[in-house]
Amino acid sequence: MNDVYIGIDLGGTRIKAGLVKDGVILDKQMISSQSATGLASSLPAVRSLIDGMLHTHADAGQLKGIAIGFAGLVDPVRRKILSTNDKYNDALDLDLDGWIRSNWNVGWYIDNDARLAAVGEWRYGAGRGVDDLVVMTIGTGIGTAVISGGQVLRGKHFQAGCLGGHISIQYKGRLCNCGNRGCVETYAATWSLQQRIAADPSYPGSSLSHAAVIDFATLFAAAAAGDSLARTYLDDCMEAWGTAVVNLIHAYDPEIVVIGGGVMSSADLILPGIREYVHKHAWTPWGKVDIRASSLLNDAGIYGAVYALQHSL
Ligand SMILES: [Zn+2]
Repeated sequence: MNDVYIGIDLGGTRIKAGLVKDGVILDKQMISSQSATGLASSLPAVRSLIDGMLHTHADAGQLKGIAIGFAGLVDPVRRKILSTNDKYNDALDLDLDGWIRSNWNVGWYIDNDARLAAVGEWRYGAGRGVDDLVVMTIGTGIGTAVISGGQVLRGKHFQAGCLGGHISIQYKGRLCNCGNRGCVETYAATWSLQQRIAADPSYPGSSLSHAAVIDFATLFAAAAAGDSLARTYLDDCMEAWGTAVVNLIHAYDPEIVVIGGGVMSSADLILPGIREYVHKHAWTPWGKVDIRASSLLNDAGIYGAVYALQHSL
């Protein structure tokens, strides 16, 4: 009893770590990630976060395991990172097993970050009680994962359900960093948003031209203040997300779709538009897919990671 677990969410812009005891996050800490330059340089800071939380909340020997959600393709059986895409590219060669064993000597687990966020929503959040769900997390990129028939969908090479951000919504569209054309990420994720807006002919006359960074919070605020360029791109993003959700529904036949990520702090602004688009375009003769906001938000990945570790999913 009183076992303690650490969940780590290695996202594109932030690294979150949480200490979980009796199924509840007792403490969580966050640092900026330098994902473009790699993971190794952040490991000392992650170690300090973990040790700080353990010092405050746990006695020696209480830590039973560490679970990691990683922004890339992962084989959770061999605990091996399989592929990265402009985030933590050095992680393919990192000895995470050695790092964890030498620092804490406990069992550990790793899987795709969006997949673990889906596990979190399924067991503790907006997907509780539902056995067929798709989770789409919108942020730096777009992560997706699928629970189908009460099982975490993995596929032959552990990438089933995880590449929803790289489903094409324009087959002659923008070239993506994954090699595909027209991926939803190239239209409606933070990494591409700034590029697209800055290249728009209306950009110099928009309030967005004064923003240091154009992320979704900036876009939503400018749209609410009446900036027409921001409104145009907000509407475009909602159509892109709606199209992606329709594709995911056609692929995986879920009962619900849970949408997460930082944009859900403005759920009232975007969910109605996504629902309207999806209900108009999805082929679901049995009824309407319930499109919900994440209820765990930033904590989904930590809860899901620890659940997956405890239950050897
Ligand atoms: Zn792509």
